[in-house]
Amino acid sequence: MKTKKIIGLFVSTLILGLTSCENEKVDSQERDLLQEIEDNSEMSLGNAFYGRTSKSSSDCHFEYEGHLGPENWADICGEEWKDCDGNAQSPIDIRTRNVHENDNIEELETDYNYSMMNIYNNGHTIQFNYDSGSTALLDGKRYELLQFHFHTSSEHTIDGYRYPMEMHLVHRDVNSGLLAVIGIFFKEGRRNNHFLDKFMSKLPENEGDHYTSDNQYTIGSLIPEEIEDFYTYNGSLTTPACSEIVTWFVVKQPVYASHEQLERFEEIMHENFRPTQDLNGRVVYSSEE
Ligand SMILES: [Zn+2]
Repeated sequence: MKTKKIIGLFVSTLILGLTSCENEKVDSQERDLLQEIEDNSEMSLGNAFYGRTSKSSSDCHFEYEGHLGPENWADICGEEWKDCDGNAQSPIDIRTRNVHENDNIEELETDYNYSMMNIYNNGHTIQFNYDSGSTALLDGKRYELLQFHFHTSSEHTIDGYRYPMEMHLVHRDVNSGLLAVIGIFFKEGRRNNHFLDKFMSKLPENEGDHYTSDNQYTIGSLIPEEIEDFYTYNGSLTTPACSEIVTWFVVKQPVYASHEQLERFEEIMHENFRPTQDLNGRVVYSSEE
């Protein structure tokens, strides 16, 4: 009887030990995942390029309205967000009459793999983190896709026209740390967008929430492998620290999503677009007419 008790105690201790070990493993995987998502956030990417730690930035908060709104971003975080007052800022209003046509710009070639979708609500946007290894050839340079996220309504405008949503695919040049962002407009259509549809019921609703998909998906199913018609210009990240390290590729052809889908994104993210910024002499190129 006594021996049985002791064995029982031993077994249950073992099981308890194993489960807590398993829990620790899950915890550390979760920590790694959240760290990766954080590293791929726009703020961290800007800070990483300038060799700053994002420590002080993480104590600073911005909003899209009120005293922490876009007009005051440059003054919120000491020197760190001063770029928000710079003269090569994004987004911009693209005036089609003023763009320079340039036949020498190469078409965009994307090579996006299947990836687990780690979806995170960072309080400003819904960010889909992408597994490493997916690349795009943008104006002759190879970049790696890090993440994509959404803005309601669109940040870029075309001749003053604002689309209901814009997706940003954030890429980094591995060697220089410079970024390239592809902007895709969403327009309202009759049908649900097939790619978004897979995640609509899983979108993390509150700041800090996240969800990891059970299967792998590719954003390559939403946009063509080769994109010929786009605008390109030099600008910045559209959230603090507004680092001016971005080559923008704004695709002319919008994709479609249903009214309900667009509404759901807006319901979660609210209005999260920065007002358009002055060109200050910059030139916007058009790949083709
Ligand atoms: Zn963005």
